Amino acid sequence: MSRIHLLPDILASQVAAGEVVERPASVVKELVENSIDAGARTVETIIRRGGISLVRVVDDGCGMDRDDALLCLERHATSKIRSAADLAAIATLGFRGEALPSIASVSRFRLTTREPGAIAGSEIIVAGGKIDAVRDGGEAPGTQIEVRSLFYNLPARRKFLRSENTESRNVEHQLYLQASAHPEVAFVFVREERVVFQLPATRSLKERVRDLHGAELVDRLLALEPAARSGIEISGLIGAAGLSRQTRTQQLVFVNGRAIESPVLNAALREGYHTTLMKGQFPVTFLFLTLDPAAVDVNVHPSKREVRFRDPAAVREAVVAAIRKTLEGKRADWQEQFRAPNETTLEPAERIEHLPEMADPGGTSAVSSPFERTSFEVAGRDSARPSTKLARPAMDPVEQRDVQIAQDGVVPPKRDRHFQIIGVLNKLYVLMENANGLVLVDQHAAHERILFEELRRRMEEKGVPSQRLLLPQTFDLPPRDAEWVERNLRTLQKMGIGIEPFGAQTFRIDSLPTFLETSDAGAFLREVIDGLRTVSNSSSALRLGEDMIAKTVCRHAVKANDPLRYAEVEKLIRDLLECELPYCCPHGRPTMIQISHLELEKKFGRKT
Ligand code: ADP
Ligand code: MG
Repeated sequence: MSRIHLLPDILASQVAAGEVVERPASVVKELVENSIDAGARTVETIIRRGGISLVRVVDDGCGMDRDDALLCLERHATSKIRSAADLAAIATLGFRGEALPSIASVSRFRLTTREPGAIAGSEIIVAGGKIDAVRDGGEAPGTQIEVRSLFYNLPARRKFLRSENTESRNVEHQLYLQASAHPEVAFVFVREERVVFQLPATRSLKERVRDLHGAELVDRLLALEPAARSGIEISGLIGAAGLSRQTRTQQLVFVNGRAIESPVLNAALREGYHTTLMKGQFPVTFLFLTLDPAAVDVNVHPSKREVRFRDPAAVREAVVAAIRKTLEGKRADWQEQFRAPNETTLEPAERIEHLPEMADPGGTSAVSSPFERTSFEVAGRDSARPSTKLARPAMDPVEQRDVQIAQDGVVPPKRDRHFQIIGVLNKLYVLMENANGLVLVDQHAAHERILFEELRRRMEEKGVPSQRLLLPQTFDLPPRDAEWVERNLRTLQKMGIGIEPFGAQTFRIDSLPTFLETSDAGAFLREVIDGLRTVSNSSSALRLGEDMIAKTVCRHAVKANDPLRYAEVEKLIRDLLECELPYCCPHGRPTMIQISHLELEKKFGRKT
């Protein structure tokens, strides 16, 4: 007896539903995408009990005639592709002809639809995949689909659903994605009879993001600088350095208008934001990639959440370049703010006069009033800062003349000042005034950033200075690691690692970076190679060099309670403003915080 038979259509649809319809949010995704493909200007989504009891999506798109309305419930029925050539270059969100029959097979389903010019529309009622009724319907032009009692006929599936709240949140997130991808479409979301959002159609992504997340977020986003790469257009908004989240929920990427999840793009974002994000933090992005549909394959997964790029390396590089360019471009704005000092403010040296002559070495006993309290060390007291082996590239020894001037309380010669230093709080935060208001600078974070960029520049230009080991060490590496080291010898040498091949899979190290403070070359190389497991090309090796530097600068930068002299503070700020990414330290913590006049006025109740 033969054992193989064809599955009945409904069962086949339920099998397909297993992949396409995971939860209410996936129903919403498929229905909203259909509405957008149908050219809708407004899409309204209504859910009840997390979407488990009801999902209704109403659009004003092109609608369907009776025949199409019946056909769209058949498996593999689609108006979006016809040939293999179409499949190779998908320009619509849907194309599989699977969603409606799948959804209809696992719910109580109702479709009403009408073409704009038609006198009457159609209403089709389906339960568990079986058509119960077909009749004339009198709804407005467009399409309305109602999905009730999701998985009522698949109890096993229903058990996998989470709480109504969680399912609601998933639906809401899905709508955020769709609304961000299509600012030109108006969206309404109603949950348990309450309007959650009502977004008018807008002309720009920026307006849409403002409507979704508020002006405060928009103010901290930067428009992506278009990076010239053939065939890949990148646009959108990304968070300025220092803006981050603990999860990826606001790290949105869209490829040809489709929200996707992509390890390639995740890696590119991580690399683009390298050293500007704290460990374990994710950037905020609304990143849009537009490329030739033939250069992306969306037919990877039934839910179409993943894509395959024909040239992932090119995509990755384009994204990294666009992000770095955008983050670094912002620097000019910062400098501009510092270029407009308020003429009426006091000269810094005059301010220093008001500070206590000598800070008490113990720190606080000499301080009587909180307003005089300061740890701004007056020049002349070069308290023993821990000496470090690392030359402080940015902190030249302060000129004798400056010390003299400050000691005498004489106003130093007027230079072109872009900022006014007020003092140092708690031996850590430099207080400054700029055209916008008050700026607080974390002196340790600032110095880390300066050292980091200085060392990175050296690494890129002539390589990091290295120190000979007393005894060169040799290593055997497994073939994959050996091959990588072989290919990246030059980069490693620039990182200050004196490494040479010494046999088939053996290498010899005779020097290490000067600032490394370790003589265990073996442990260090293992650390480097571990870091390499995740990366593959030499630009990533440079990133690795950055990581190494970032780790070491922390130890060498001025510490939180290192008292600095005025000239040192001034130089620190100047050097910081010359950095490529001045607003965060190499671990992604902010270096400066701006408190605007407006914020101050609000706090003091002068403005509401
Ligand atoms: P796909 O979107 O992959 O083509 P679906 O099962 O989602 O498959 O939809 C089948 C077809 O039904 C679509 O190709 C489209 O022609 C039609 N359709 C679905 N939803 C709508 C809608 N909201 N408005 C107009 N036509 C629709
Ligand atoms: Mg579809």
